[in-house]
Amino acid sequence: MRHLPITLAAIFIFSLVSCDQVEDFFAPVDPLIDEEVVESQDFNLTTPFYEMQVAIDSRVNAGDQRVLDLLDNRAEQFLNCQFGDSDIGFEDFMLDDGTVVPPLSELRVYVVPNRFECEAVGRDVCGGIYFSGIDAIVVSEGGFEGCGEFSVWKHELGHRYGMEADHSNQSDFEACTNTDGCDPGDIFD
Ligand SMILES: [Zn+2]
Repeated sequence: MRHLPITLAAIFIFSLVSCDQVEDFFAPVDPLIDEEVVESQDFNLTTPFYEMQVAIDSRVNAGDQRVLDLLDNRAEQFLNCQFGDSDIGFEDFMLDDGTVVPPLSELRVYVVPNRFECEAVGRDVCGGIYFSGIDAIVVSEGGFEGCGEFSVWKHELGHRYGMEADHSNQSDFEACTNTDGCDPGDIFD
């Protein structure tokens, strides 16, 4: 009987580990979203400030207006933080390497409820993704314990404004795209 406390502790610890695994296992992952899927959406909404073109999947919980405001607000925060000027979202903006990023009004944003299968560098499940060829971002509402809603939005904007797809220069963007309480490796494409 003197091993009972140890046995109970072991069972307790084991149950914590399994619980995490179970949660991860049951977190929904939607089917592949590629450029073609994005192109087939109806971008019939517009954000009030930057006039980004938005399509929101009907399964997204947050109301449309809340999503549109959130996309605008966080884009403004990101541009202010990264470049010290949120007005560049209204203009053609040249990156250090000479790439010209068009105004945010030309960006299309597809908002989905869950993580999804993707074809990204080093990942096959994404919480968000930026398609540079068609200037479109897919961003998921949730699906990550403790990460908050739409936590990958600023990260995907970072990709539009110069973060490499393989994240080789991610450190230049971390201060302005980080989301508290999340393990970046877990959620970013
Ligand atoms: Zn990324």
